[in-house]
Amino acid sequence: MRINAFTVEDIPLITKDHNIANIICSLAQVKDHDIIVVASTIVSKVEGRIIDPDKITPTPEAIRISKLLDNDPKFVQAVLDECTEVILESPIFLVRHTSGNICINAGVDHSNVEDGLLLLPIDPDRSARKLKEDIFKLTGKRVSVIITDTNGRAFREGQTGIALGVAGINTHHDWRGSTDLFGTTLEVANEAVVDEIAGFANCMMGEGNWGTPVVVIRGFELLSDSDGMDAMYRTPETDIIRNALQNYKSRT
Ligand code: GDP
Ligand code: MN
Ligand code: MN
Repeated sequence: MRINAFTVEDIPLITKDHNIANIICSLAQVKDHDIIVVASTIVSKVEGRIIDPDKITPTPEAIRISKLLDNDPKFVQAVLDECTEVILESPIFLVRHTSGNICINAGVDHSNVEDGLLLLPIDPDRSARKLKEDIFKLTGKRVSVIITDTNGRAFREGQTGIALGVAGINTHHDWRGSTDLFGTTLEVANEAVVDEIAGFANCMMGEGNWGTPVVVIRGFELLSDSDGMDAMYRTPETDIIRNALQNYKSRT
């Protein structure tokens, strides 16, 4: 297998007036079956997901949690407004974002934004689908789209890119039922390919001032009709770690 991956250069500082598909298609020659990987930061920017923290009035709950975290109550309120569930209040503020992704601070961030707080896209799958359709309208090319964010992981130091929203690609390569080199049937392997691709693309994007929020992966045949991140998130019943953390929360 030989794969080509490149960053799209000369992308401007994104604002609400931009159209990401137009920008990508004018700066890169998109081909059929390309996987277009886009940092959620710029998707949030075009979707106007920037808020002014001074306009937030923190609730008593936000004030209480902010004291545990030694953080700004307005920031804590912004996170609470973005999440459906608090998994841990401190020492890390681990929550479930409305999209289903469990991450620190619901992805609310102030890096790579001039002013204010940047929120994750409301519905990253929908954003991915729109970008895929816009690219098709502009070029007639059928691509897959992965919208990424940078997340920390349990057990391991450091962050990696993860898939937050997808279109035109299966989230997993399910190996269960196929055989290994010695004919043994695989029973567990269900490879989260969109996270693996997001991780590598994120490493090409960088975290700071490289200005490269879009990566094109070419030569990996993963285009499919399926859309959406639903298969990625464990159900509350099967998520052992999440349940353990909730028990931990109730003990402290
Ligand atoms: P996240 O992982 O989605 O939170 O995005 P990051 O803030 O880590 O940014 C990923 C990459 O996108 C970095 O190379 C940033 O410099 C770049 N980036 C972020 N915003 C913009 C923008 O508005 N324009 C350009 N050209 N690059 C941006
Ligand atoms: Mn981010
Ligand atoms: Mn990042």
